Amino acid sequence: MEGKIMADIKGSFSKGLTAINVKTSSFLEAKKIQTYIATLNAEIEALQKEIGTIVYEQWNATGDVSLQLIGEQLLTISQKKQIIQEQTKAAEELARKEKEILGTGDGVKPERIFCPNCGQPYDTPVKFCKKCGTKLQ
Ligand SMILES: [Zn+2]
Repeated sequence: MEGKIMADIKGSFSKGLTAINVKTSSFLEAKKIQTYIATLNAEIEALQKEIGTIVYEQWNATGDVSLQLIGEQLLTISQKKQIIQEQTKAAEELARKEKEILGTGDGVKPERIFCPNCGQPYDTPVKFCKKCGTKLQ
């Protein structure tokens, strides 16, 4: 996905489109990534609730909890977290490449950072993510 984004941006650029087009395409890609991360986080939350229910019901019925019953959910959560990390990196790379293509002339914002947990972008440094509370500095 990362490669395609860059190809798109560079493609727009080489077609002689203006910096605004590069910014717009980069912005839209960043939005897509954000939406994807939000979806993954919602899915993780649902899985965590599911695990909670399974664990409680099993404990309530048998007095014991077997990890086997929730193994699949745990693995799926771990896979989704991995994808979130990759997507966050892709978003960072996107911002970096945009800056690289557009140069660091007037009006270019300082380095954008992204919450490693939910992907929320921040143009100014913050200590904690306003969306999910993750420590950022
Ligand atoms: Zn966050």
